[in-house]
Amino acid sequence: MGDVAMIEREDVDLASRFQALRAAYARHRCPDRAERLGWLKALRAALVARQAELVAAIDADFGGRAAMETRAAEVLVVAHGIDAMIAGLPKWMAGEVRSLPWYLLPASGHVVRQPKGVIGVVAPWNYPFQLSMLPVAMALAAGNRVMLKPSEITPRTAAFLADLFSKVLPKGVVDVVEGGPDVGAAFVALPFDHLVFTGSTSLGRKVMAAAAPNLVPVTLELGGKSPVIVAPDASLEHAAERIAYGKMLNAGQTCVAPDTVLVPEAQVDAFVRCYREAVGRLYPRLLDNADYTAIVNDRHRARLQSMLEDARAKGAQVTTINPAGETAGATRRMLPTVILGVTDDMLVSQDEIFGPILPIIPVRDVDAAMDWVNARPRPLALYIFSGDRRVVDKVTQGTTAGGMCVNETMIHAIIDDLPFGGIGASGMGNYHGEDGFLTFTHRKSVLRQARLNGMGLFAPPFGPRMQRLLDLLVRP
Ligand code: NAD
Repeated sequence: MGDVAMIEREDVDLASRFQALRAAYARHRCPDRAERLGWLKALRAALVARQAELVAAIDADFGGRAAMETRAAEVLVVAHGIDAMIAGLPKWMAGEVRSLPWYLLPASGHVVRQPKGVIGVVAPWNYPFQLSMLPVAMALAAGNRVMLKPSEITPRTAAFLADLFSKVLPKGVVDVVEGGPDVGAAFVALPFDHLVFTGSTSLGRKVMAAAAPNLVPVTLELGGKSPVIVAPDASLEHAAERIAYGKMLNAGQTCVAPDTVLVPEAQVDAFVRCYREAVGRLYPRLLDNADYTAIVNDRHRARLQSMLEDARAKGAQVTTINPAGETAGATRRMLPTVILGVTDDMLVSQDEIFGPILPIIPVRDVDAAMDWVNARPRPLALYIFSGDRRVVDKVTQGTTAGGMCVNETMIHAIIDDLPFGGIGASGMGNYHGEDGFLTFTHRKSVLRQARLNGMGLFAPPFGPRMQRLLDLLVRP
């Protein structure tokens, strides 16, 4: 563990709160299965009982968050995530027996799974409950204490989380620290036993640097531009429907949202038509539709608007999708757009979009699409639409992304038994399923020796007996 004295004076409160968790851990280093189950079940019950309050908090934070999206993406995903932890715990907590060379018998080798200690979790605003709660719950399943810093952009949800944990769990198990970038910067410099950061790639770099002096291991769940490859044989109706679903859920403010679509040159016009129809079927109205989530704040809305202006100014064709011909809305809901004629110097090509804007890039064939993907930073997700197994296998083997879906978008990210995480610029590590449990667990090798054993054969003074033994063990 690192040195708490490294934390600067103005962060004394943060340091003392961290010390309180570390002291609680030191008093009780390895909660048993019953205690962990008790924490998880209490959190699940409180979440279900208070879901209406949560829906209202996130709605107020966004200035319009579809209630069903909150119930599905925050409540359902977390409740089922906790169920999977409860079901997996007996197997995940069990030790592992390993094999030893015969000449070390009767010794035995085991891997003991023990909690790492105090885990730090920094969360973003886009799914402010799910992306706080799932890593915290998994860290608790692994028997740790947790310090959580939710995003300041969704303050009501942060307050809800603080209240939920303080009411449901005993003191010294989870501490929620509310605050913005300054608090975040001080938080990630604490000498945690593990740190999980979910957020942008640019901040991920800073977080890893801040963790380095204390050698804190990090899990970085970052963002990026997740591409979609539409193969020439794909059903354009199906592809457009699933891409529209992924792009429009949470108004595109999803880390694994399809960012950019690569479509065979000859099929671009037909794809655009199918996409517009798909959006219209999912959202017959947009600006006053409670099913359609708003952009989280004015800054992000202005960011998306400037992406569109930049693309227009540099010669792209921006088409707005407006099925009901609406002119103005009372919220920050944003009409979706598709962009053609995109070039690499446009903001929309460089930055993660994180909104309902869809650039469409014409490509010669699937190989050209793969070259396009492989020439860019490794994405968090990649989507391929094709009914041809050989094409799907080629794309699966020939590209590298955190995860992928075939003929679907985004759903892999909520499957409890599939490890979820990025690679390269989209992150490192993961926290779902047993892989997640192991993120927060130290796997300690333990060798048990009997009092009567053969180790004397290997001890000095060395003579012909040792020679013969080594000749026997290392045969040509
Ligand atoms: P962000 O990087 O701006 O902020 C994330 C968190 O970091 C917030 O809690 C913020 O307060 C905190 N923070 C701010 N400054 C900090 C600093 N200097 N040091 C440490 N922490 C600091 O991200 P965001 O805008 O909240 O979320 C959007 C980004 O997150 C997108 O890039 C998205 O793709 C990514 N994301 C990734 C995943 C994933 O699972 N891989 C999930 C959701 C979002």
